Amino acid sequence: MSVENFGKLGAAAIALSVRAGDASPSDMIRASFERAREIGVGPDALNIYLHSDEKASLEEAEAIQKRLGSAADVGVLAGVPVAIKDNIASLGLPTTCGSKILEGYVSPFEATAVTRLRAHGALIVAKTNMDEFAMGSSTENSAYGPTRNPHDVRCVPGGSSGGSAAAVAAGVTPLALGSETGGSVRQPAAFCGVVGVKPTYGRVSRYGLVAFASSLDQIGVLGRTVDDAALGLETIAGFDKMDSTSSDADVPIYRLSALGGPAPDKGSPDTEAIRIGQSRVPLPPPPSAKTLEGVVIGKPKEYFPDSLDANIRHLCERSLDRFRSMGATIRDISLPRSPLAIPVYYILAPAEASSNLARFDGVRYGLRVDPGKGLQAMYEATRSQGFGPEVTRRVLLGTYVLSAGYYDAYYRKAQAVRTLIGDDFRSVFTSGVNAIFTPTTPSTAFHVGAISDPYEMYLNDIFTVTANLAGVPAISVPIGRVRRLPVGGQIITAHFDEYTMFRVAYALEAALGAEAHQ
Ligand code: GLN
Repeated sequence: MSVENFGKLGAAAIALSVRAGDASPSDMIRASFERAREIGVGPDALNIYLHSDEKASLEEAEAIQKRLGSAADVGVLAGVPVAIKDNIASLGLPTTCGSKILEGYVSPFEATAVTRLRAHGALIVAKTNMDEFAMGSSTENSAYGPTRNPHDVRCVPGGSSGGSAAAVAAGVTPLALGSETGGSVRQPAAFCGVVGVKPTYGRVSRYGLVAFASSLDQIGVLGRTVDDAALGLETIAGFDKMDSTSSDADVPIYRLSALGGPAPDKGSPDTEAIRIGQSRVPLPPPPSAKTLEGVVIGKPKEYFPDSLDANIRHLCERSLDRFRSMGATIRDISLPRSPLAIPVYYILAPAEASSNLARFDGVRYGLRVDPGKGLQAMYEATRSQGFGPEVTRRVLLGTYVLSAGYYDAYYRKAQAVRTLIGDDFRSVFTSGVNAIFTPTTPSTAFHVGAISDPYEMYLNDIFTVTANLAGVPAISVPIGRVRRLPVGGQIITAHFDEYTMFRVAYALEAALGAEAHQ
């Protein structure tokens, strides 16, 4: 059977039709690969996929079909094709982190997030292109060539989860996993016109996510709609004994559809099926999906500088007007240490990266160059040839800021300022503000090759890194277009308050309707 409109179906709708027997999991796999061929996910076109195996995916689909026929519950993602960023370990397909140093590496274990997706019936169809080891904002730093933005192939999709965002934007998969260290899910989501969510630090297990900067890294979800992102996050969230920083806080139901609200895919499958490892406590439903009565939304002045692009400001103001008309109060606020976030991030993230990436030495994984010339020579040759220029820059920078003479001046100082950035958020959220609204990025997608200065590239994350440094959850939702290119609006809430974040995001998506993509 052919699946009509596959590229427009949401994850919940796919799972519902599979569970109802209207289409089979194999139909969904065939539709996904058909779409992938149509738009060209390979290296000679959009370059979205690094690894995929249609035959293996069809076998997985058959297994789900068998589960459908038995008494076992297949799960809320039954038959839903999902793409996974290539730094998240998956059994079967390679995990190369977009790097030559891991070319051909197949992980012997799987990330908890991927295992949970599979447990809920999802079908893993591909590993997606990314900036090498998730370092970058454009997916141009991949050793396997840049990914192109489906909205305009001259442009980057953003990064580092550019392949995952492009897969969702192109309608190849309704859902994809990405990873965030400083904005790598939200920024490409904004550039590609999709929804991207970074959960609270600790909300989702990092087990099986190849470490970049462990105190900042989180797996995040990309989807075409807020409902898809909520469904994806619900599935992978929750305590995992394999990650000592994962939180045992209860995971509430995030989906408005599950709470009876008018989300895009009405009549969502039963929510009981998404219990894994811990209880789920549904919070009281919002009074109405479309109202934000009593909600206070902060507008931080540091994220709306005079220099902000006038078109992006205009779209943000339109979103703020929608919030007002749904009953929310908009309050001018300040997060005064925000200007320090980029310098702090680019001390802490490289410091942690230099330590984490020491394991790629030619002995344990992947590439090995000049093994006959002695250990030191092999390390040097393997790392020099295996790592690209941005990764090398970060390792050098990180090693420098951690070295004996500079540790106090740089690393310790940056840690202290990080605490102050967290304090900024704490004081806003304890003063009655429920959510913060900002632009996700200072610009729309730029042309491939347009930014060659690393510092200019780093500034892409100016509005996103603060949430990683503070550990708070944040989501980017489409709020309109400038010269046909998508623009994202960001909603940030307090630690573990993804519930309010989704509530505000659902409301904005509903209020903007088709305008979100115009
Ligand atoms: N662009 C940022 C960096 O290069 C963030 C990357 C990320 O979130 N993984 O480090």
